[in-house]
Amino acid sequence: MVAPAVLPPAAVRQESGPVPTKAPPALMKPEPAVSEQAVVKEIPKLKKTEPEAEEPALEAAPPPRPTIPSMFVVMIASELTPVAKVGGLADVVYGLARELEARGNAVEIILPKYDCMRYDHIYGLTKAYENLWVPWYGGGINTTVYFGFVHGRKCYFIEPHSNDNFFNRKCFYGQNDDVLRFAFFCRAAMEFMLKTNKHPEIIHCHDWQTALVPVLLYEMYQHLGMRHSRVCFTVHNFKHQGVTGDHVLRATGLNRPEYFLHYDRLRDNHNPHAINLMKGGMVYSNFVNTVSPRHAWEAKDGGQAHGLEPTLHAHHCKFGGILNGLDCEQFNPQTDPHIPVKYGADTIEKKYENKQALRRRFMLADNQKPIFSFVGRLDPQKGLEMVRHAIFYALGHGAQFVLLGSSPDASINEHFLGLKRHFNDNPDCHLEIAYNEEAAHLIYAGADMMVVPSRYEPCGLTQIIAMAFGTVPVVRAVGGLADTVFDKDFSNRPLHERNGYVFESADNPGLESALQRAIACYYQFPEHFRQLMLNGMRGDHSWNQPAQHYLNIYDHIRDK
Ligand code: ADP
Repeated sequence: MVAPAVLPPAAVRQESGPVPTKAPPALMKPEPAVSEQAVVKEIPKLKKTEPEAEEPALEAAPPPRPTIPSMFVVMIASELTPVAKVGGLADVVYGLARELEARGNAVEIILPKYDCMRYDHIYGLTKAYENLWVPWYGGGINTTVYFGFVHGRKCYFIEPHSNDNFFNRKCFYGQNDDVLRFAFFCRAAMEFMLKTNKHPEIIHCHDWQTALVPVLLYEMYQHLGMRHSRVCFTVHNFKHQGVTGDHVLRATGLNRPEYFLHYDRLRDNHNPHAINLMKGGMVYSNFVNTVSPRHAWEAKDGGQAHGLEPTLHAHHCKFGGILNGLDCEQFNPQTDPHIPVKYGADTIEKKYENKQALRRRFMLADNQKPIFSFVGRLDPQKGLEMVRHAIFYALGHGAQFVLLGSSPDASINEHFLGLKRHFNDNPDCHLEIAYNEEAAHLIYAGADMMVVPSRYEPCGLTQIIAMAFGTVPVVRAVGGLADTVFDKDFSNRPLHERNGYVFESADNPGLESALQRAIACYYQFPEHFRQLMLNGMRGDHSWNQPAQHYLNIYDHIRDK
């Protein structure tokens, strides 16, 4: 144990609302109210999750370099905040593009024109290119490209006209032909750049959906004139790789299965008859990164690359980890339009009014308990059994709980809907099984703590957003969570950098070890808890440093 943080004179909740200064009865003697086992028996089961990888170590990101000439960067991505958002990828594409532009670079973003986009956030949508003939299976698909601004970002949207209706599916992912949908997107993006004489110095691709871009560039389009572009490929999640048959080669005109189904190119590392798009992206790109230094290590040496470890080793010289930043305009409690009362580190006592608003919104009891929260995709990656256990533990130990999340997997939604029904009459718990941007912001602002017990987490944004809102994260020491959250009691960081609670083992005792310390601190040492909130808020979560790292990489790989 280390000495507690230096304390400010007043604790936030003492200034602004009723907070006990000593432990409530619940802390001394846990509330016996609900048995997790009894409840779980009665609701649909969660699937078993995969085993853990080994303990990782840190891998350093490249140091910043000051003067880099401005560049023309084209981002090709399947998501963009706020028009097409499923998870953190959307936030990263928007935030990084904005920061690069703020530093004088020209940035354009190419996206599919999904029917389910938030068109109310696209300004001045106009046709930019008609009758773009995109080669497809020996024929072609007539395609229109639109241009529009998304909160200042210059975006092109690809709209194919064919019976496939690739992007008119009322959803972003989860279709049987996802591989073909996004393979078409890659080919169309390349064709559009060629026909419009765009010669970006850097093409920045994200995840398997855009992994064919570097393959097409080096095997086809550089011979057609795109000789100077270089590719940075960012892997946001190694789990989804786009493993498919060789029909994708015929569809995109790459053909030559005997050539591409080679171990050194696109052949899947486990199935010799399958094409692995993400592997192709890694092999053909000039630089590959994942989204935290710790996860770069976990992927290459900790067995978390889902079969792509040998590929990372073969290409280790061009592989690294860069932590995601946070777009400080989008996630800023001083300006957030979604929260009723704005606040900053200097006015942190106003956070309490958002806590009250959160309680009103979800009909929680107005009492002295802290509110734990979880916001995220309900994916096994997020440690769903531990999320569930956190709910039971919090309710049994003098805390409230709010969950916001959903899953494309109906059985997972059913499980959490079962829990929701169980807690229907509990005044200390609300589960919202939905995707709701505005509710997410209210939770970040109103909750006291954010639980992130992920099994693996390449970077994780929810803990970073929580900190920006003065909400104390309780996280598992994995991936980007370990790179951003430093334990109040056990970290070797200076006191002012400690910003949350961290546990190691992916099981209930591990989780409880952190929850119990967090609850005790909230009740017994409110000044210490307030200091944790402030430490989180005062940390630099911006794109400032990460954008510099990306610029260093762009500069390193560009054709000089
Ligand atoms: P991942 O990329 O694995 O989904 P991250 O933590 O990197 O996880 O990013 C999640 C992003 O998506 C955050 O901005 C979070 O607020 C948002 N988000 C996730 N689930 C929901 C939801 N149900 N409603 C609103 N926002 C959500």
